[in-house]
Amino acid sequence: MGRLIGVSNRTAADPNARAGGLAVALWDALVASNGTWFGWSGRTVDEARGIEMFSDGGVDFALVDLTHEEHERFYLGYSNRALWPIFHYRTDLANFDDEDFAGYEAVNHRFARLLSKQLKPDDVVWVHDYHFCLMGEELRQHGFDGRIGYFLHIPFPAPEVFRTLPEHTRLARAMTAYNLLGFQTEDHKANFERYLLEFAGGRKNDDGTVSVHGRTVTLKAYPIGIDVDDFAALAEKDKAREASTRIGRFLGGRELVLGVDRMDYSKGLPQRFEAVGRLIRDYPDLHGKVSYTQIAPPSRTKVDEYAELREQLDQLSGSINGDHGDLDWIPIRYLARSYTRDELAGLYRIARVGLVTPLRDGMNLVAKEFIAAQDPHDPGVLVLSHFAGAASQMPEALLVNPYDTHEVADAIYRAIHMPLEERKERWSAIDKTIREKDIYWWRQTFLHDLGHIDAESDLPPV
Ligand code: ADP
Repeated sequence: MGRLIGVSNRTAADPNARAGGLAVALWDALVASNGTWFGWSGRTVDEARGIEMFSDGGVDFALVDLTHEEHERFYLGYSNRALWPIFHYRTDLANFDDEDFAGYEAVNHRFARLLSKQLKPDDVVWVHDYHFCLMGEELRQHGFDGRIGYFLHIPFPAPEVFRTLPEHTRLARAMTAYNLLGFQTEDHKANFERYLLEFAGGRKNDDGTVSVHGRTVTLKAYPIGIDVDDFAALAEKDKAREASTRIGRFLGGRELVLGVDRMDYSKGLPQRFEAVGRLIRDYPDLHGKVSYTQIAPPSRTKVDEYAELREQLDQLSGSINGDHGDLDWIPIRYLARSYTRDELAGLYRIARVGLVTPLRDGMNLVAKEFIAAQDPHDPGVLVLSHFAGAASQMPEALLVNPYDTHEVADAIYRAIHMPLEERKERWSAIDKTIREKDIYWWRQTFLHDLGHIDAESDLPPV
């Protein structure tokens, strides 16, 4: 296998992205193959320039700036106002704009042109996420015949929902230019497969691949993981203990129910606040005994729906606290800021309940981090949405419908009162799974499969 070329919107050249799962996973593989990480520099500029190349820690980076217009159309526009909501089933929030799509196509095209100049025939290209659905086809058109894999980090929706995108035909066709398409869950994979078979004239082959548009593509689920040992070790570090101690002082012996999410409408935060409100109404014995702390730093604040969500959360927490709080008790504490990974690990560890209730999520790494950070002798309980990709790997969590505030409230109550033996059993089953399917398994399995696809015989026509 030749060099690995990673392609993603944000790269580990950005210190803020360096600790994330993708950075950890790709880094070693890039170092080992003398590979290159290609993506956006994180800068927006008046006029597009070429590629910026540099090396850092054994990895070569090839970064490209976005113009202000490209950032608006490609990133904020089509990626985050059309693809993100539709792939998370929010047809009500999607904004379809021809110029946004034109901007999306133009960036995929320009990036592919710049990247194709760097490629050697035996390079293996691994493209990530919804920003670059068109990249594979663009690279083919620029003459690259080698292996190209694609991993979608967010859900792939049911075909009925995907087809609401005016450009669904174009997008799906371009996605079949990849040799291997990876999804977070079997359900997401099945959704794309069903789209290809029912709406794109595809045919399923005996070996499981799909032939469509004169190409053959392999679809497979690869649930992304974390480095469990690394995260578990973080939870024992001084910074983590400090965070545990600080919140412990605030708790004063109360049980901690903890949520940690980017502030995003896919995370179901208003529904979660409502569920906690119901918990407090339905179970007066918990008054003064629990504290729900939600950590949710604002993200994508330039997209209107995100600013509105912030207001909604301020209002909801204010009204629940106003109704139920007391002189010495605030039921909901909501911190709109981010914490370091060490601090988060310390907070997870001291929590009795981890509340992870997205309305829709590709995987949800917070669920895995929460499990990894627990004390095996006294673990907390994970309350997890059915609609997080992680649920497909964690039947031992308390699985809930995040829209059903009764069910979520009852699950929190059950978690708070769960006997130690049951907590240990559930926790160790999930811990075993996330250790088996960790971030290194994810990377190795994907790259192994990509390396074993006979790209030459399946060359897609351009
Ligand atoms: P998403 O990718 O949609 O944000 P995930 O749960 O898969 O959701 O990944 C989120 C990552 O961001 C996790 O690694 C988590 O630790 C981190 N994160 C989430 N909220 C915060 C926060 N408030 N402060 C710092 N890191 C956070």
